[in-house]
Amino acid sequence: MTNLGSRNYERNRIARGTRIFREGEQGGFAYLIERGSVEISSMKNGSKIVLDTLKDGEMFGEMALIDYRNRSATATALEDTDVIPFDRAQFEKIIESADPILNMLLRVVLKRFRWALQQVLEKERFMLTGEYNPGGQTQVFDAARNQAILQIKLDRDIRYALQNQEFLIYYQPILETHSHRIAGFEALIRWNHPVKGQIPPSDFVSAAEESDLIVPIGQWILEQACSDLRKLQDTDGDPSPGAPPLFMTVNVSPRQIAHLGNTEVLRKILHDAGIKPGHLKLEFTESMLIHSPELAARALADIQKLGVSLAIDDFGTGYSSLSYLHRFPLDVLKIDRSFINMMTKDNGSRQIVEAIMGLSKGLSLQTVAEGIESLESLAMLKALGCDYIQGYIASKPVPLSAALDLVRNRTDLLASHSPLREGLING
Ligand code: C2E
Ligand code: CA
Ligand code: CA
Repeated sequence: MTNLGSRNYERNRIARGTRIFREGEQGGFAYLIERGSVEISSMKNGSKIVLDTLKDGEMFGEMALIDYRNRSATATALEDTDVIPFDRAQFEKIIESADPILNMLLRVVLKRFRWALQQVLEKERFMLTGEYNPGGQTQVFDAARNQAILQIKLDRDIRYALQNQEFLIYYQPILETHSHRIAGFEALIRWNHPVKGQIPPSDFVSAAEESDLIVPIGQWILEQACSDLRKLQDTDGDPSPGAPPLFMTVNVSPRQIAHLGNTEVLRKILHDAGIKPGHLKLEFTESMLIHSPELAARALADIQKLGVSLAIDDFGTGYSSLSYLHRFPLDVLKIDRSFINMMTKDNGSRQIVEAIMGLSKGLSLQTVAEGIESLESLAMLKALGCDYIQGYIASKPVPLSAALDLVRNRTDLLASHSPLREGLING
């Protein structure tokens, strides 16, 4: 029943009594039961053996997806049942990116599982009672199955979230260190889940990367952040003559880089929003440079040619920090929060921050320190000549409306009475 799977992740209603697939058929889909029940059965010597009855939240049909063999059983809807189909292409994308040992383990476990199933089916008592003992499955298999189910559900939820506009962007001010002036913002994604409330990016960004959903999400973020930057620039109440316009910084995941390397996409986004390329900065991490250096170097050079700035994020946390720096076109270096946090307590961290600042200056890069929470580290960074600062000391990420207020009133976020700091540095 390939038609059942042709529209991925859309809920499919299967009428009671429908055979979803038959024993012996080739299988291109696995299914997650959203609501309803499905009978898994097998024919032996002309009589039907019920192997299992599966209910909400359970998965079936995954075996043929993993080992390419024909269906070892027949699946039938026992009532009107909603399923989410999951196709081989999606599955293979996950397998490809999985650790090779995990990949091998999965296939070995599956082979044993098939073999065990076969043994069970051979036994006469089975044919008599028609019962199946699911305890025969290994715990490893159950755990892998549960994990897969969670992943597929999250994937499906992210897809819906994109369609239903559950994502929104918060903006965290980035301040010029010497003047305290708000120079720009970093766009940070938030997910307003209708049931679970606000979900932080750490809980879904990597899942969105795994499934490549980060590409459409990332495109949406860029469009939204650029059009919001237009509003912020238009609202900017900075009275000083010649003050540079506000910039916007957007995080880019490794999977997006090939997409953005086609600079037509970026060009159109900037044009539609009415934003100068120089006012957009893209942030990426070392992992992108390490995994596909040639592709990254080419794409980044094209993006920079367009006039968009490039920032390296979380600097110092990767592996090869120094060896690659000169090989990539870069404009900004962001010192990771972990060093900033430690620099007032630990002399070693302070030395690292100083060394990074020196390196950054030597390469003519602008330096941003992120995650500043104390006046003490702020003072140190000022003394070291860090160009920009970002952190709870000035403001947490805020919704657009609050960001607009900040630039309209040109609030000094580092003034001792700043409302956004209340409870953050003293609390
Ligand atoms: P990041 O790019 O390093 O972003 C900075 C994170 O540090 C943000 O967390 C921010 O809220 C937090 N932060 C800022 N100042 C402070 C501070 O003073 N103290 C502490 N403790 N934290 C501070 P958030 O918003 O939860 O984002 C986490 C990560 O998720 C980001 O780390 C980034 O890697 C990823 N992310 C967020 N938005 C996007 C996005 O639109 N696209 C992509 N690809 N990744 C995103
Ligand atoms: Ca960032
Ligand atoms: Ca960072």
